[in-house]
Amino acid sequence: MECNQALIKVDEYFENRLSDIERHNIKKHLEKCSKCRQEYEDMSFVFNALDNHFINAPDDLADKIMNKIIHFESSKKRSTKVLRNIGASFVAAGIMISLLNFSNYNPIILAKGIFRGAFEINQVVTDPITKLSQGLKYVTDVYINGNGK
Ligand SMILES: [Zn+2]
Repeated sequence: MECNQALIKVDEYFENRLSDIERHNIKKHLEKCSKCRQEYEDMSFVFNALDNHFINAPDDLADKIMNKIIHFESSKKRSTKVLRNIGASFVAAGIMISLLNFSNYNPIILAKGIFRGAFEINQVVTDPITKLSQGLKYVTDVYINGNGK
């Protein structure tokens, strides 16, 4: 099993919603892959915390997120910082979508939805952007600045 396949299923694994075969495959992957195991442990920590404590989002959370998105939309600077902000904006957008999707349910389900949304967006958007910017930095260092190894 590949990491991206395992990471997509870890929340279902945590909540015991997988078939025996899938469960076995994920268990085997987590035993040998420290990166995915760390993701699983982080997710377990958050989900356990949510199950044990009633968490309410602050009243001004939606306003703060919208302000960040609006601020980002209005700034058109081109720099590596923008790449990081793009990732953050996608996460914020994911949180907003989760808020809309889950707003009729209890806060635990809402918070889990936010976490899942941010987690999936991180896998799909932020990681590739991080890798791309690391790649660009490497190319710049080696071929333009001439100080690569
Ligand atoms: Zn892995």
